[in-house]
Amino acid sequence: MVVELLSVGTELLMGSIVNTNAQFLAERCARLGVSVFCQTVVGDNPGRLREAVDTAVSRSDMVILTGGLGPTEDDLTKEICAQAFGWPLVEDGHTRERIQGFFKNSIYKVIPENNWKQAMIPQGALVLDNDNGTAPGLIMEKDGKRLILLPGPPNEMIPLFNNQVEPYLRKLRPGFLVTRMVKVCGVGESQVEDMLLDLIDGQSNPTIATYAKTGEVHVRVTASASDEETGDKLIKPVVKEIKKRLGRAVYSVREEETLEMTLVRLLKKHELTVATAESCTGGLVASRIVNVSGASDVFKEGFVTYSNKAKRKHLDVSKGTLKKYGAVSSQTAREMAIGGAFATDSDVCVSVTGIAGPDGGTEEKPVGLVYMACCFKDKVTVEKYQFKGNRDKVREHAAVRALDLVRRTVLENCE
Ligand code: ATP
Ligand code: MG
Repeated sequence: MVVELLSVGTELLMGSIVNTNAQFLAERCARLGVSVFCQTVVGDNPGRLREAVDTAVSRSDMVILTGGLGPTEDDLTKEICAQAFGWPLVEDGHTRERIQGFFKNSIYKVIPENNWKQAMIPQGALVLDNDNGTAPGLIMEKDGKRLILLPGPPNEMIPLFNNQVEPYLRKLRPGFLVTRMVKVCGVGESQVEDMLLDLIDGQSNPTIATYAKTGEVHVRVTASASDEETGDKLIKPVVKEIKKRLGRAVYSVREEETLEMTLVRLLKKHELTVATAESCTGGLVASRIVNVSGASDVFKEGFVTYSNKAKRKHLDVSKGTLKKYGAVSSQTAREMAIGGAFATDSDVCVSVTGIAGPDGGTEEKPVGLVYMACCFKDKVTVEKYQFKGNRDKVREHAAVRALDLVRRTVLENCE
């Protein structure tokens, strides 16, 4: 089945909004094993929209459209799709009632006249009830060609896709798709690919694909089978082999689990508390930990010690160390971690100090140079990194690595 995406909206063409709907749909289709061969953006112009719909229908089995289902004059998607299939628009009583119900629970006293337009549907279309807005989604099927129309606002489009379109697509696809995500930190994408090359090359079911994220690599393993259990059986040995090869660099095999979630889980398991002592990351590491609900069980305190004075005052970094080696040095990172653990009476403290740029670099200490240290019950590990990219990237990379440093330290000492 060949699928393409058609995003409708002049705002998209002008660059006023980012086409996150296309990104969402493309990713979800890939996950479902549905091939998307083309993505198009077209403005709210009837002629050009009709042309785009006709072209898409002529070359693809299915077109997923977003946007232009609203009540205003420039919302044309439904009308144009009805035209393209030669279907008349008729009023759908069920949708009319839903629109009435929607307004009953809203701040509006009277229903704007143009909203009734949304109760008109192409005769023969399947209506997808929209719980978050007035425009229903629509599925139109004719001569083996399918159009799926979804509203533009992501808070309406995403639940409609999850609850109604995805089950519909699953039914169309013969077989079942089972996927597992192996999440890796501390090893680059090409290195991961190298380590898995024979697996990647040799496999057709399951397939293996790597995705590079900031400081992380995600490896998706996808099996197609007649049922979930068979799919699981195909996937398990492959995931096991990947884990064996990548060792401790694998932090999770749960799709929804982030690095910080893994870390908090690990700290809880071993009943450890953690503190942070940050310079160039300015609280990013603490913020990522606090992202996890239940972090209060493990996270004690975080310092942002940007100046030398603050490093001395809060973390007791010695004047001599700062003078002799500088703020960005392994010695300072070490003292920051020890000082942070001591000041907060935590089992673990991670420190980060570096040059995020764009200014402040020297030949000896270039932009992107970051030292981090982890103090675990009096034992200190110090690591040195040279990150690439702009200020944001350097800081983001450093935060990821710092979280991972704590994770690896706990694993090494407790498991
Ligand atoms: P409405 O009833 O709000 O008019 P609609 O289905 O007609 O919805 P549009 O008018 O095309 O959709 O877009 C409404 C809003 O939805 C946009 O202002 C934008 O915020 C969001 N939106 C539309 N298309 C996209 C897209 N492709 N990616 C992300 N957001 C989008
Ligand atoms: Mg609109």
